[in-house]
Amino acid sequence: MTELERLIKAKIPCEETGIEIRHTVCDICTPGPQCGIDAYIKDGKVIKIEGTDGFPSNNGVLCTKGAANRQYIYREDRLKTPMKRVGERGEGKFEPISWEEAMEICARELNKVKAAYGPEAVTFLCGYSKWFRPWLHRLAYSFGSPNYITESSTCHTAEVMSYNSLFGAFSMPDLRNTKMIMSWGSNGVINSYPMGRAVLGMKANGGKLVVIDPRRTHLAAKYADLYLQPKIGSDAAIAHAMAKVMIEEGLYDKDFVEKYCYGFDKYADYVKQFTLQKAEEISSVPAADIRKALDMFLETDPSAILPGNGLTHRTNGYNVHRSILSLMAISGRFDRPGTLLPCRDTLCDSDGGFESLEHEFYMSRFPENAKPRVGSERFPLWTRLLHDKQGQGMDLVRHMEEAKPYPIKAMVMFGVNDRMYPESPRFLKALKDMDFVMATDIFHTDVIDHADIVFPASTSFERGEVKCYVGQFIEYTRPVIAPVHDNKDDVEIITMLANALDLDDDLLRAGYDKSVQYILSPSGITDWEAVKDAPLPVRSPNATRYVPGTMLKNGLPTPTGKIELSCSVLEELGRPDLDPLPIHKSSDDDADPKEFPFILMSGARIPNAVHSRTHNVPWLRSLRPEPSADINPADAARLGIKQGDTIRIVSQISSITVKANISSISNVGDVNMFHGYKEANVNSLMPIDHLDPYTGFPGYKQLRCRIEKVED
Ligand code: SF4
Repeated sequence: MTELERLIKAKIPCEETGIEIRHTVCDICTPGPQCGIDAYIKDGKVIKIEGTDGFPSNNGVLCTKGAANRQYIYREDRLKTPMKRVGERGEGKFEPISWEEAMEICARELNKVKAAYGPEAVTFLCGYSKWFRPWLHRLAYSFGSPNYITESSTCHTAEVMSYNSLFGAFSMPDLRNTKMIMSWGSNGVINSYPMGRAVLGMKANGGKLVVIDPRRTHLAAKYADLYLQPKIGSDAAIAHAMAKVMIEEGLYDKDFVEKYCYGFDKYADYVKQFTLQKAEEISSVPAADIRKALDMFLETDPSAILPGNGLTHRTNGYNVHRSILSLMAISGRFDRPGTLLPCRDTLCDSDGGFESLEHEFYMSRFPENAKPRVGSERFPLWTRLLHDKQGQGMDLVRHMEEAKPYPIKAMVMFGVNDRMYPESPRFLKALKDMDFVMATDIFHTDVIDHADIVFPASTSFERGEVKCYVGQFIEYTRPVIAPVHDNKDDVEIITMLANALDLDDDLLRAGYDKSVQYILSPSGITDWEAVKDAPLPVRSPNATRYVPGTMLKNGLPTPTGKIELSCSVLEELGRPDLDPLPIHKSSDDDADPKEFPFILMSGARIPNAVHSRTHNVPWLRSLRPEPSADINPADAARLGIKQGDTIRIVSQISSITVKANISSISNVGDVNMFHGYKEANVNSLMPIDHLDPYTGFPGYKQLRCRIEKVED
């Protein structure tokens, strides 16, 4: 082997090898903390990737999924060209078509629906990825439709509602400055690596960690100083028992509550019934452990609770989440260092240290006299507590099927996967009845097979984009490779569609650079090309660190101006089925516990997957080659199930067949299963109306089922 061949084999970047390092960001998981990547490029191809040293969110490290980016971008099932359907919807028969012709057809068909049924008959639906959301949002409104909907109807928005309800703003624990974390239903090490790093960093610096989680996660088993494993759905009872102790023993922050909290008397009266013993009966967690966790929380100052997003994936999830946040409120752990701090929205849910014009960017186009958005009548709290005016997509299928209160006839979809929906086959069936369906994605999915016109989207390696990071950083990437196929980035597709529709919207039609620079103009940055050229993210001149205490000083942006232990919006709505207090409630599931004795949890993250997006990445699939469900060893022994046996999970409406993974990660009586598998879609087991009535969120983590061993 020559010296040059040796250098090439070792992928050494230099002039002789022709290998160059170019910088981009990973776009596989959620948009907030996405990690910096150094892409090694040779002859226009990515031959290796590494995490970027010194990058604010990952400092050189990539998680399992991020490390597989090369296989992700070169996947065989990527969409390669615009296509037009030639078979029946669902058949998957297409022929290639030019971008121009495809855009012309979309504009013609969407305008036809608009003329016949009104603009609201077109729904703009967004799944993954999320970087282009403000642009799709504006496209919907400029078209005249109020129906902009995202997959956040099942993901993160119920958590936002809970924060907004109590504090008027989304907030996050100040993980860098706290000395103790109660991680409640949260598993940052797997689902958000940057957050996980912060939790482990706190622990490494001598901090204390309590984990409360029905799943015995890696975080619980390896790092927790104290671990509580409650039955699914019992968390509010535990939180209320803690509150009762705090109130009755005078351990709460009386001055803080008097000054800043609303509804304390009603709340205190309600939690009175939750003794530690009662919480033990409901949750199976020993009363002494609940008390010990509370003492650790109160004896360390500052301390914070990190409530997981998954807590809202239950039929009483909004109340569970609120009950936990209430502990932060009555202990005075809000808006001071090391506790819960309000966040500012700069771009796509990321806090870059200043308020941008993102909200203004789309809300300024909200159509006058718009009909009610999808889900807004069925879930009024959703509409009242969210500031960015999107529809609740969990009412979409019903709306499509019943055409009430008005018909929906066309869909414009970006990155949508039917398997995010409970009773997923109904979503595909509803698509078949549409007059027109346009779908954009990176990969060929079942939803693509139901579209009339299909557009291939780019990965983060093939586009440039702006990201904002905590610490006031802004990153502006350039593409590191040319499009792998005849694909374009999502915003370019939105821009082309806005132009084809001839919308009266010059800013949207001007494309990404112009509009993102408008959105971020409060940053004070004037030379955007210099930001693109910078080797690492730059600080925005106008960005500031949030000064803890500011929100308390200025008044909270809730209707009462205080932290609401009783939700004033719910008091005003006066719906008997929606209690203003964060009440405890066992499952609303009407399945017979004798026939369906197990509780199924889906959606909790595994290291190698984000929804369905990485199931077809060979490196990642090899870590869990077959869809499998985690069953506690005691349950497995009782049912005669061994590791790797084939089992059937049966719900009231359907069943799937998977492999058994015998693991103490699942509590006795629980089954845990990751979602998104085409061959075993766990969400198909869930009835479409198994929803939290406050938020409309599906009870993904609380569904009755039974397990049957399948004999070979
Ligand atoms: S945590 Fe993993 S998947 Fe998410 S952005 Fe970072 S490397 Fe990518």
